[in-house]
Amino acid sequence: MQRVQSTYIHAPALKDLITQKPAWMTMSLNPRRCGTTVSIDGRDFWLIHNHLAPDELEFDSVDRDWALRTILGVDDRFQYDIISKEDWVGRRLVADRFRDRRAFICGDAAHLWIPYAGYGMNAGIADAVDLCWILAGVLQGWASPALLDAYEAERQPITEQVSHFAMNHALAVMGQRRAVPPEVEIDGESGDAARSKVGQAAYDLNVQQYCCAGLNFGYYYDRSPIIAYDGEAPPPYSMGGFTASTVPGARAPHVWLTDGRSLLDELGPAYTLVRFDQTIDAAPLVDAAARSGVPLTVLDVDRAGAGFDFAENLLMVRPDTHIAWRGLAAPRDPDRLLERLRGAASEPGSREHDSAGEAAAAHIA
Ligand SMILES: Cc1cc2nc3c(=O)[nH]c(=O)nc-3n(C[C@H](O)[C@H](O)[C@H](O)COP(=O)(O)OP(=O)(O)OC[C@H]3O[C@@H](n4cnc5c(N)ncnc54)[C@H](O)[C@@H]3O)c2cc1C
Repeated sequence: MQRVQSTYIHAPALKDLITQKPAWMTMSLNPRRCGTTVSIDGRDFWLIHNHLAPDELEFDSVDRDWALRTILGVDDRFQYDIISKEDWVGRRLVADRFRDRRAFICGDAAHLWIPYAGYGMNAGIADAVDLCWILAGVLQGWASPALLDAYEAERQPITEQVSHFAMNHALAVMGQRRAVPPEVEIDGESGDAARSKVGQAAYDLNVQQYCCAGLNFGYYYDRSPIIAYDGEAPPPYSMGGFTASTVPGARAPHVWLTDGRSLLDELGPAYTLVRFDQTIDAAPLVDAAARSGVPLTVLDVDRAGAGFDFAENLLMVRPDTHIAWRGLAAPRDPDRLLERLRGAASEPGSREHDSAGEAAAAHIA
């Protein structure tokens, strides 16, 4: 999708030429050459990305020194030393399978996309977090080996989806670069107006990728064999925004506990039953967990103190913070739920509520 010449330089003189407030990353937009300058140490070391135009098919077709000086806005007198350089291609590639028998893939081995929204490494870490607790369950002996199937079922669709977010963003950014008008380089009022318009459009587009709460907190697993779905669809999310939710598959909403800790920091090493009303009997679930061998931590949370404004009294939360089940009270057949949670239920994603009516009732406060 996008060829990029990246150059890591030592250039102590650059800092004093910058008239704006110091920034970690600066985008240069002009009709001759668009690029991105990243401050590595805030002083002397800089990384310059030169985004090649679609018709620049060979890296060597662009003079690196000329491009770098044009991006920085400096002339031939400016001194810099190249520490390293790397030319790379932004792609959208997602593996069809994340597992082959005893081998699992995570991170860039499983998915590669143009590095927007800072999400390549984040997604790789999320893969590893998901795979690790699943592997731990199987290796510790409380989970069925079928739990391992959940890894690909959960992570492959998410990374496929994120790859499209990143690609769509990349296409929009490329479109903006191509559309920079020559007026941005004119002094005076018309130049000011053109710069302001281009700058605002770049801000509006990119603020989503730099504040990408949707990608980090809004995604959900909607086709997992180990999540007890109850018929409600999770709220949609964008790159920049999300709506907190208790729908199974979503990430548990963050709330502050009364002593200043975060709910998410208090989750146990395996499943955690979060109880927002201590009059609700947790024993059926605790006993079922003991019978099935699933390690279960019970966490009592003061609903009002935490400001938890969802209807549910109980959330079953996984160590990766995703919700596996929710309810007003323990389910009628807690053993069946526990079988699903440890990967031993047969029908993928079937409901643990005894009927659609009960599922609906579970969501009426
Ligand atoms: C310009 C750029 C900017 C980026 N910015 C961000 C960002 O801001 N935020 C973000 O989250 N992500 C970002 N990314 C993406 C991020 O860098 C990658 O997603 C991440 O590094 C992938 O980590 P990984 O461990 O999966 O793979 P890698 O980092 O590729 O690690 C794989 C390792 O395996 C080794 N290896 C390969 N084959 C073998 C073998 N046969 N035996 C043993 N070892 C082997 C390799 O040498 C390498 O060390 C960016 C990427 C680029 C190119």
